[in-house]
Amino acid sequence: MTTTRRDFAVRAAVEQGLIGPDQPVIGLLDVAGIRAAATALRAAFAEVTAPGTRVLHAFAAKAAALVPVLRLLADEGLGCEVASPGELALARAAGVPADRIVLDSPAKTPTELREALTLGVAVNADSFAELARLDGLRQRVRGDSPLGLRVNPQVGGGVIDALSTATATAKFGVPLRDPGAREATVRAFLDRPWLTRLHAHVGSQGCPLELMAAGVREAYELAEEVNRAAGRRQIDTLDIGGGLPVNFASDETTPTFAAYARALRAAAPGLFSGDYHLVTEFGRSLLAKSGTVLARVEYTKTAGGRPIAVTHAGAQLAVRTVFAPETWPLRISAYDPHGHPKAAGPDGPVVQDVAGPCCFAGDLVATARPLPPLAAGDLTALLDTGAYYFSNHYAYNSLPRPGVYGFTIEEDATVRFATVRSPQTIAEIVTESGGAHAEALSGL
Ligand SMILES: *Cc1c(COP(=O)(O)O)cnc(C)c1O
Repeated sequence: MTTTRRDFAVRAAVEQGLIGPDQPVIGLLDVAGIRAAATALRAAFAEVTAPGTRVLHAFAAKAAALVPVLRLLADEGLGCEVASPGELALARAAGVPADRIVLDSPAKTPTELREALTLGVAVNADSFAELARLDGLRQRVRGDSPLGLRVNPQVGGGVIDALSTATATAKFGVPLRDPGAREATVRAFLDRPWLTRLHAHVGSQGCPLELMAAGVREAYELAEEVNRAAGRRQIDTLDIGGGLPVNFASDETTPTFAAYARALRAAAPGLFSGDYHLVTEFGRSLLAKSGTVLARVEYTKTAGGRPIAVTHAGAQLAVRTVFAPETWPLRISAYDPHGHPKAAGPDGPVVQDVAGPCCFAGDLVATARPLPPLAAGDLTALLDTGAYYFSNHYAYNSLPRPGVYGFTIEEDATVRFATVRSPQTIAEIVTESGGAHAEALSGL
């Protein structure tokens, strides 16, 4: 989201009463930005693929698990990658057709697998054990789900361990370089003529494009090996996952989908020859830039000489930033109580901490950050938070999930909002915290 669009949206959110003393934190989504990202993704792959290649872009639901977002992306021609019964239900509630849904996850239960097969949703098995389970289920459930196997090309990790899916010991997929694993993988395909897809997700944030492309090339070469051994094009679809990193340091979108598509073409030209249909599973790179968390400053204080702004955005919605601040720093913009951008003032920016509402000392979204001097009633905006922030709530202190609003800006600069998710009510928090069972323990 550009600074101008954000400034319009923030002022309108104040004027239209979406944020205020009683709703002190909200999420904002730039609908035009989401549409533009989807368009850029489609165009990037259209540019490198042979005519007639089917490409399904399945948005990774966990990055923004919000039904209207999944629907907007479906309207843009995208599908959905899901990894739990909840995510599958969200995709279906959004009206995503079954043939545009892909089920991944390392821990699918028999019930989950049966549901996917019944619906005709594509499934990527994570292990040989899961393939064995599918062998059994396929006897009982008739369906036309495309079925695949996830492999880990073990090409190495990026700078964030917790988000590196292709290290030697990563928990996902069949580890291709382990002794005997490659041969066993080829055999698993030859034994199962119905197994037609190969899946690798090499990422994510912190991984260079070349590393990701090298992982995809490994998957491509394995598919060729399987097809040679089978004497036919048994694997007809390659699912290359997501994992494109996002630039959190400025408004610039880099790397672009186009740059990644070109890196893939350079590393594995055969991927785009038309021999394979493709599935992608991007999450963060589709949504991050289109989201902003907006929070009120409730109080300010100083401690040990350091000014601190106590706001309503902390670990409950910026979990990674709070617990791993070095890895997940966020840019923060300051606005006055009317939603106008705040200037630094005559003495320039003030080095301050920006804290959240949670009751632990480390609940800070920025430490020693130079910002315009913040005062009670001001607003802080956490930028690039459209993915993995307000849709990945952490229920610490029973803080409510904030309302999320999508916006568009008309030609005459009017900002129109639509509710994506209503703010969670206190009554809902009581209910989901066992409110109906108040006597349960006393009566035991
Ligand atoms: C999380 C995930 C994605 C999306 O990753 P991003 O980094 O958000 O693009 C895609 N595929 C799988 C299997 C995932 O687990």
